Amino acid sequence: MSGSGSITLKHGREKPVMQRHPWIFSGAIDHVEGDPAGLLDVRDSAGKFLARGYGNPRSQIAVRILTWNEAETIDETWWRGRLQAAIEARAAWVEREKLTACRLVNAESDGLPGLIVDRYGEWLVLQSLTSGIEAVKATLVEQLADLLRPRGIYERSDVDVRAKEGLPDSTGVLWGDPPPEPLVIEEYGLKYPVDIFTGHKTGFYLDQRDSRRWLLNHHTAEGGEVLNCFSYTGAFSACAASTGARRITNLDSSQPALDMARQTMALNGFESVEAEYVCADVFQQLRVYRAEGRRFDLVILDPPKFVHSTRDIERAARGYKDINLLAFQLLNPGGTLMTFSCSGLVDPDLFQKIVFGASVDAGRQAQIVGWLAQPVDHPVLLSFPEGRYLKGLVCQVTGY
Ligand code: SAH
Repeated sequence: MSGSGSITLKHGREKPVMQRHPWIFSGAIDHVEGDPAGLLDVRDSAGKFLARGYGNPRSQIAVRILTWNEAETIDETWWRGRLQAAIEARAAWVEREKLTACRLVNAESDGLPGLIVDRYGEWLVLQSLTSGIEAVKATLVEQLADLLRPRGIYERSDVDVRAKEGLPDSTGVLWGDPPPEPLVIEEYGLKYPVDIFTGHKTGFYLDQRDSRRWLLNHHTAEGGEVLNCFSYTGAFSACAASTGARRITNLDSSQPALDMARQTMALNGFESVEAEYVCADVFQQLRVYRAEGRRFDLVILDPPKFVHSTRDIERAARGYKDINLLAFQLLNPGGTLMTFSCSGLVDPDLFQKIVFGASVDAGRQAQIVGWLAQPVDHPVLLSFPEGRYLKGLVCQVTGY
């Protein structure tokens, strides 16, 4: 970061900062001295030091806080220390779980606002979400290479939020060799092919690890007919197959994702499990299945993010209700629905209410037998509830 300066908050706007919320919105700022895009000391209206962070006058989030400790200098050693802390916090767990892929840096919740680093085998994938991270990207890449000795570091900074920061997309090799295509990771005895170049997020839904494990542990799919909606590369299908599913339907609107789902099954030697790959819109296809009288023992609903701003909540709630209602109708008695929402603005209570409403309208009584959420490598800072986004319910139909 080149420049530096300070911002003074409006009177009465210091409370969130003092409670360690890492964002300062432009509306809370009284005035700025120095470079508003540089390192900034945050002061209350009386001039007292509160925190230090990096600024971006083009974003509504005008400052992202890096430290609340006035004695900390934000230099290369500081960045390295934060990276090291995040990596070390996961090291023993990764080893114990024998994981080859995990999130190493989860942005704000790891004290590194705007930075995502995921590990896929010998490669790292970096996502820079803000101008502040962009400014130190080269340093971070060097430090990651030094700390972890990967074969390569690939950038996947092609996400919508960058536009809000005034940044264009940026992808490509940052260091070392390009990853193989696909790269194969292992998790709880299963192999998953990952397309680092064009896959969703940084390539794979690392955040659904605990849900995959839930399915593996509970054998919910055993002997049953499974409908995996929004299947992407078929990760849930592999878990269902490995625990004895009789038949699996992968449903997704992306043909490349379905092709990869086929690869996932082949990589794990599940060619003998009866599987269907249907390229269609879930909202429409569930109606087709209903009209055909098809029934399933396990339906998985893991849709993409429906809510991007508070304005979308109502429309999204109708979307969630629609697919959950259809899913309940498609379940056999005793069947199970695994249903998710990754919209941070839909909180777990609201989500549960939506699923409840869907069950009522479908004429099904169900028990919640599992609550799912993002795993331990996607931590949420208590002072940053915005970091919590993924929730899931496992519902078992107990009455028709
Ligand atoms: N369950 C997956 C992740 C799902 S991501 C996993 O665990 O890996 C969401 C998926 O939904 C994407 O693959 C996307 O192609 C697909 N998708 C988005 N909108 C859709 C729609 N209306 N109908 C069918 N698929 C859709």
